[in-house]
Amino acid sequence: MTPNWLDDPIPVQMGKGRSPIVRTSWAVSIYLIVGLLWITFSDRVAELWFPDPEMFSRAQTWKGYLFVLVTGLVLFMVLYRQLTKDRLLLNLQHHQRQALRQREHQLTVLMDNLPGMAYRCLYDKDWTMLFVSGGCQRLTGYTPEELINNHTLSFSDLIDPDDAGRVAEEVARAVSRGESFSVEYVITRKDGRKICVWERGCSVEVANGRTVLEGIMLDISDRKALERELEAMATTDPLTGLLNRREFGRVLEEELARCARYRHSMALLWVDFDHFKEVNDTWGHAAGDNVLCSVSRLLQSSVRSVDSVARFGGEELVVVLPEMGLQEAGETAERLRSRVHGLPIMVAPGHEVRITISVGVAVYPDHGQTTAELCAAADRAMYEAKKRGRDCVVQAT
Ligand code: GH3
Ligand code: MG
Ligand code: MG
Repeated sequence: MTPNWLDDPIPVQMGKGRSPIVRTSWAVSIYLIVGLLWITFSDRVAELWFPDPEMFSRAQTWKGYLFVLVTGLVLFMVLYRQLTKDRLLLNLQHHQRQALRQREHQLTVLMDNLPGMAYRCLYDKDWTMLFVSGGCQRLTGYTPEELINNHTLSFSDLIDPDDAGRVAEEVARAVSRGESFSVEYVITRKDGRKICVWERGCSVEVANGRTVLEGIMLDISDRKALERELEAMATTDPLTGLLNRREFGRVLEEELARCARYRHSMALLWVDFDHFKEVNDTWGHAAGDNVLCSVSRLLQSSVRSVDSVARFGGEELVVVLPEMGLQEAGETAERLRSRVHGLPIMVAPGHEVRITISVGVAVYPDHGQTTAELCAAADRAMYEAKKRGRDCVVQAT
């Protein structure tokens, strides 16, 4: 059973005033005093009023009837009043319990229909769950019973180890300031699938100075995937998968700033396909696209992981080579040129073409201090390579 959302004991409001034992003692005492006074004084009065023994005896009997009648009446009134009160109280309790059950039901339905999962947990290293809404199984794959009180595993076991420290820090910061927190992290579901969740919660003081956290978690994996997709779209070229021109500009700018700060060198290669128009004219634009992609893949796989290959536009590619001097950059360019030269590319069933590239090499700081200067130097060197007959590498001067 999922523990109730309202599972903290609700303090019962006791009626103020004297306790039942004191009140009962008072009533019995009054009854005893009145009874004793009646027995003592009524006999004296009866003796005075009825000196005749026979009349006195009758008076005693009537006196007894009167006592029973009066005490019976008093008992009736007291019991009637008390039982009426009890019934009212029972009715009130019944209605209150019904209203409470209805509210609880509404709350449970609301919780279970929330997107994601509502929770209440101890503020401890395990994030011990005290309550989780029905959405728990949809979100984590575990039933509420498996997570509550760390029955099968604790919620902290689900959090990706790479995120656990950051999440604890962010929550601790918010709790210490008495603010609510919003965190994003990865959890591993019961089926092994990793999902990204967004959590918003706050700390709540409960009885005995204990602190618990209450909040809600949502699966934001789709949003994250979309963000990544948009980011990729904004930075990569859709045809070749290389970095696009804008991202190339950003990478080069960043690399030049790093070079200026640490006094490093770096190289830029400017690559243009030779007679590419002929490929398009002979085999069609789609075959030309295929050649572009094949050469792009080859260049990408022929450089270091720190290097960046980008499509500047058309069939012009650029390669950023961090921390590389002129000689090494020339050798790299030559290696790329010769690999492309030897690459057979299928353009139609049974037909292969071989393409060549002309490469211009420019190095920071020798050939340019800014992105514009360096690009212009590399571009000029590439045109010089075209002039020298293509399929060659020329270093900027
Ligand atoms: P060269 O550079 O050796 O002087 O000759 P070229 O034929 O390569 O001439 P240029 O670089 O001026 O022409 C580039 C050609 O590349 C023009 C265009 O048809 C082709 N091209 C540009 N972008 C694409 C593309 O995305 N796909 C295809 N298939 N062709 C493209
Ligand atoms: Mg061109
Ligand atoms: Mg060309």
